[in-house]
Amino acid sequence: MQLLLTNIRQLVTVRSSGKPFKAGKAMRDLGVIENASVLVEDGFIRWIGTAGDFSNTLNADADTLDCSTYVALPGFVDSHTHALFAGSRELEFAWRSEGKTYQEIAAQGGGILNSVQATRAATKKELKKLASRRLDSMMMHGTTTVEIKSGYGLSEDAEIKMVEAISELANEHFMTIRSTFLGAHAMPPEFRTQRSEYITLLCERMMPHIAKRKLAQFCDVFCEEGYFTLDESRRILEEARKHGLGLKLHSDEFTSLGGTQLAAELGAISVDHLEHVSDEAIRALAGTKTIAVVLPGVSFFLRNPYAPARKLIDAGIPVSIASDFNPGSCMSSSMPLMMTIACTQMSMTPEEAITASTLNGAAAIGLSDQYGSIEVGKRADIVLFDVPNYRYLLYHFGTNHAAKIIKHGTILEFS
Ligand SMILES: [Zn+2]
Repeated sequence: MQLLLTNIRQLVTVRSSGKPFKAGKAMRDLGVIENASVLVEDGFIRWIGTAGDFSNTLNADADTLDCSTYVALPGFVDSHTHALFAGSRELEFAWRSEGKTYQEIAAQGGGILNSVQATRAATKKELKKLASRRLDSMMMHGTTTVEIKSGYGLSEDAEIKMVEAISELANEHFMTIRSTFLGAHAMPPEFRTQRSEYITLLCERMMPHIAKRKLAQFCDVFCEEGYFTLDESRRILEEARKHGLGLKLHSDEFTSLGGTQLAAELGAISVDHLEHVSDEAIRALAGTKTIAVVLPGVSFFLRNPYAPARKLIDAGIPVSIASDFNPGSCMSSSMPLMMTIACTQMSMTPEEAITASTLNGAAAIGLSDQYGSIEVGKRADIVLFDVPNYRYLLYHFGTNHAAKIIKHGTILEFS
């Protein structure tokens, strides 16, 4: 099946030239082609260039779409979400607006454990139904690939229920989905005085089961005061590595425990959050292949400091932007909104924000060989935005400009 997108006002290719990600100044190179065409064949990109240069003969049944009012970007890759959960936490949002902190709310039984209760009580079918609607909404805003973490189960049964649900959604939903086992999201209340027993359960029962059934590609830990210590994080990640899982880490969100150096040392695929990352940790990260995933929506929503994205980029570290979509600290999955916040609050340029949300997002989940840029041979995940140019997409924020979502070469219809 062929689909020709023609007369595209601006085609933002985010060309990678075969590299898995972009770092430093290269993050500003979007490879924009004005008045472009893209030929899609059987779900893959076969040709790109200016519309005037297109001279291929199309098959008789080929579809052609005039895109003269659209700007085309690669589908966004949201590399850090907690999109599978039950319940919602608007009450905590109200508490926070009265001045209570994340830690105070957690101490009152709010926070992650609130979602744990609701998620444990929900069936797998209910969880999938809730997540599926959220995935539809993400796609309508231009996200075509997403990572989803477990971590609201915190018991063997409930964690496995979560990763099973994520794996099933990956087969059933149009969205490309990568699954991360985050059994170390918080210490379950039943194990508060037996921390080591929970970690043993996690490493010796849950992890082998999940790895054997390939229910997750990555393992993640919340390395933070009140959650998991640096030593505990190391124990879990080293075990995950033995099971062939890729490594991720929530690091330096509220305090700096050394998680970022640990992620660099262990060769993690990404290290996420980094709101309180130290200069020493930035030095440890520079020169590694670990992607720094920053989460602007969380700082915005919690009124916390922002990760020093400018410093990270200037140090040559590949930066990715993700939503961290979750019921407690960022109930938004709009990648354009995250990008606008990254520009206004973190001094990223629109070009850097786009690279961070496409190619570098794909790299943070090991998929940049197939996704994250519009290049010949890659999967045809293309979003057409009804905007005059790509900068306008981030400038005119808080509204959805996505007009057509093309996933694996198919133009999706949302009812
Ligand atoms: Zn997170």
